[in-house]
Amino acid sequence: MTKPLAPNATIGVLGGGQLGRMLSVAASRLGYRTHIFEPGANPPAGHVADQVTTAGYDDANALRAFAATVDVITYEFENIPTEALDILEALRPIHPNRDALRVSQDRLTEKTFLRDLGLTTAPFATVDDADSMTAAVAEVGVPAILKTRRFGYDGKGQARLKAADDAAQALADMAGAPALLEGFVDFSHEISVIAARSVDGQVSCFDPGENVHKDGILATTTVPARMSGSQRMDAVLLAGKILNALNYVGVMGVELFVTPKGLIVNEIAPRVHNSGHWTQNGCTIDQFEQHIRAVAGLPLGDGQRVNNVVMENLIGDDMDRLPDLLAEPAAAVHLYGKADTKPGRKMGHVNRITQKTA
Ligand code: AMP
Repeated sequence: MTKPLAPNATIGVLGGGQLGRMLSVAASRLGYRTHIFEPGANPPAGHVADQVTTAGYDDANALRAFAATVDVITYEFENIPTEALDILEALRPIHPNRDALRVSQDRLTEKTFLRDLGLTTAPFATVDDADSMTAAVAEVGVPAILKTRRFGYDGKGQARLKAADDAAQALADMAGAPALLEGFVDFSHEISVIAARSVDGQVSCFDPGENVHKDGILATTTVPARMSGSQRMDAVLLAGKILNALNYVGVMGVELFVTPKGLIVNEIAPRVHNSGHWTQNGCTIDQFEQHIRAVAGLPLGDGQRVNNVVMENLIGDDMDRLPDLLAEPAAAVHLYGKADTKPGRKMGHVNRITQKTA
C-alpha cells in the first residue's frame, strides 16, 4: 500500500484548458487544492483552481517555483516539452509517468509499442521524404492516411491518399515534418475505452463509448456503444494490458476502430479524454475523479455505468443553442467559461441522460 495524499495537499496540473478545469473541480471535491501551470492568460482551469502560474514551458524558474508548491504533478495534454519534464521530474512525482508520454507523443513509437504488445493496429510505415513515401505507399497500400508523427490533434496534421497519385500532395501537406503513413481501416464505427489504474495496480475501465467525429473533431459519444459482449470484453482487456505494460497511474483514453475482424487500436491519450465526459452523468465516480484518485494514491472508485448517456460537444456557435439546451429537463450542461467563441473551439458539452437499457 502507498500512502495517499493527505487532504488539503496540492495537485499541480500542467495545462489550464477544460480538462484541467474539470480535474480541478474533481480534486476540490476530494478536499485537494490545485495549482495550474499554463502559458496562456485567463485559462478556463484558473477560474476553479487554488493557484495559477502563467509562464511558458521554457521558463525554468517558474517551473521550479510551481513544483515547490505542489505535492504531485499531473497534466491535461501530452505534448509537454521534454526539458520542462526533466526539471519537474527531479522535484516531484509526475503521474502518468514519462513512459506514457514518450509512447504517446510520437505516432511511430506509439504504434510500435502497441504492435509489440500483440495488439492490432493499422499497417504503418515511416515517411520522411519522397523516397520513403514511395516505399511506404508500396508497403501499406492505398487508400491511406499520412499523419505527422508529433503534435497532431483533432484530425490536424493529416492528409488522405485515395490513390498513389495523391502521394506528392500529401507529402507536401506535411511541410517537412516526420510522418507516418497508415493504411485506411474500413471500420464500422469508432469507440473508446476510458481506463484508470491506481498506484497499487488496480485497473478499472469505464464502459466503452461510441464516438462520432465531425470535421475531425469529436461531435458525440454514446453509451452503450454498439458492440457485442465479446467485443466489449476485448476492449477493456486490451486497455488494461496497455496500462499494465506502462506501469501507468491515472486515466487513459484508448481509441479503437470496430471492424468485422475485431478491434484495431487507433491511438492512446495519457490523460482524461473528451470521449469520457459522459461519465460525469453516467457513473457515480467520473473520469476526472478517477484520475485524481489515481494520482493522489487513493483507491479507484466504482466506475460502473448507471445511465445511458449521449454526450454532445458544444463547438463554436453551438453556444447560441444554450437557452434551448438549458430548457431540456434531462440534459446536464457543462460549460468551460471560455471568453471568446471561435469556430472549431470546444466551449462546453451536454450529457443527455436516459434510463439504462443494457
Ligand atoms: P487520429 O488523429 O489518429 O485520431 O485520427 C482522426 C480521425 O481520422 C479518426 O478518429 C478516424 O475517424 C480517422 N482515421 C484516423 N486513422 C485512420 C485509419 N488508419 N483508417 C481510417 N480512418 C482513420
